[in-house]
Amino acid sequence: MTSHEGGYGAVSLWLETCGDSLEPGPPLTRDVEVDVAIVGAGFTGLWTAYYLSESRPDLRIAIVEREIAGFGASGRNGGWASALFPSSMATLAKQAGREGAIAQHAAMRGAIDEVIRAAAAEGIDAGIAKGGTISLARTPTQLRRSRAGVEDAHTWGQDEYELLGADEARSRLNATNVLGGTYTPDCAALQPAKLVRGLAAVLRARGVAIYEKTPALTIAPHRVTTPGGTVSAEFVVRATEGYTPTLDGQRRAVAPVYSLIIATAPLPASVWDEIGLKHRETFNDARHLIIYGQRTADDRIVFGGRGAPYHFGSRIKPEYDNHARVHRSLHRELVRLFPVLASTPITHRWGGNLGIARDWHASVGLDAATGLGWAGGYVGDGVTTTNLAGRTLRDLILGESTELTSLPWVGHSSRKWEVEPVRWLAVNAGLSAMTLADTEEKITRHESLLGRAMAPFMGGH
Ligand SMILES: Cc1cc2nc3c(=O)[nH]c(=O)nc-3n(C[C@H](O)[C@H](O)[C@H](O)COP(=O)(O)OP(=O)(O)OC[C@H]3O[C@@H](n4cnc5c(N)ncnc54)[C@H](O)[C@@H]3O)c2cc1C
Repeated sequence: MTSHEGGYGAVSLWLETCGDSLEPGPPLTRDVEVDVAIVGAGFTGLWTAYYLSESRPDLRIAIVEREIAGFGASGRNGGWASALFPSSMATLAKQAGREGAIAQHAAMRGAIDEVIRAAAAEGIDAGIAKGGTISLARTPTQLRRSRAGVEDAHTWGQDEYELLGADEARSRLNATNVLGGTYTPDCAALQPAKLVRGLAAVLRARGVAIYEKTPALTIAPHRVTTPGGTVSAEFVVRATEGYTPTLDGQRRAVAPVYSLIIATAPLPASVWDEIGLKHRETFNDARHLIIYGQRTADDRIVFGGRGAPYHFGSRIKPEYDNHARVHRSLHRELVRLFPVLASTPITHRWGGNLGIARDWHASVGLDAATGLGWAGGYVGDGVTTTNLAGRTLRDLILGESTELTSLPWVGHSSRKWEVEPVRWLAVNAGLSAMTLADTEEKITRHESLLGRAMAPFMGGH
């Protein structure tokens, strides 16, 4: 895995338009000793350093990053800062009781506002608008599923979820075949690269060292080795998400599954008058194979989805970020939703990997005996969750027992993925099952049993 051809601006629309030069900062060239070493300068690593350096400005913190800050999923995602969490409420309740599940959801909701607050406090203009999410129901089966979803949410006290009639849904988002939908106010659309690069700049100004073009070769208790030197530290945090399988001994920790995205050129006001999204609501529909969209601050549509294959052996390569068939099918799907976009140019196509744990459960933790910390397995719901992870890791590292450190995801450990070829078969079978389930529902107009069986395993973006 090497740097992207065409420079870091070619990685995503977001990095290209984030307004900084993307020149890598200096790499590590000597041995250093710090209090906290962090591997990976995405949202997880940066939020962790942000809250630690805020609470304890005296701490010495060093971050090592193989490419540049924001190179990974954090600089490429769909820009939904939502309250979605990859494990269902029922799963969380099984582990931590009803109260625990409710506390996790409340923490996620609060984290959206914390992202917005922190960005504003630091003067980071990440084009944030908290317009909520509209999820359309475009077939009778999807409508039934939406209704059941809202009823289930209400049983957990999530009264913020509303069921929308066809007219109401269409008045927010005028797509084809809208029969109804659901709405939650809990989502902000943002420009993720502006946020991640802005955070890196804030940290540098606070004296946190960020060594770019510096791959961690090994991560061990109290030591991170890199080609230019070793970082010794009391605490070492792994914040490498979808790239974790490239680390020694971590090949089966998460499966890196690709999500792909396209972006239109900025759309004129007349087109927005027709489409809607006046409050920059993020949007999707209730199909099985995830799609997701947002109206950007500069009036484009950014539209993504799953469907790209998982690569044998958890391989990650820059060429996997582009998959012509999946990008074409996303474009077709976008025009199916909004025929007015038939001749609108698609200006950007990109992709990136998500980290999926074997039980689809995100986790954050710190092993007190070794000082090794981690957070990840967010599937496609990391934009907000990483903020919660950063604050939780701060509390764990500072040895404070807080509301955050007692949430059900703290210290959760997922079993390893199977060895190949079973992993390859299982992940790709899951992705194909979702496509099949959508096709089956189009033909039969009934909920696909396959889709229902797989749904708990296919959450996130
Ligand atoms: C296409 C796409 C769309 C998504 N859409 C959404 C969305 O709309 N909403 C949402 O909530 N989530 C979304 N996600 C998920 C979300 O982006 C991630 O969960 C989140 O950004 C993870 O942040 P992170 O810091 O843990 O990982 P990353 O941002 O991936 O950062 C990990 C960093 O570690 C570095 N690294 C890896 N290995 C090493 C090493 N050996 N040494 C040093 N550095 C290393 C990488 O270069 C990278 O910069 C999406 C993800 C993708 C790929």
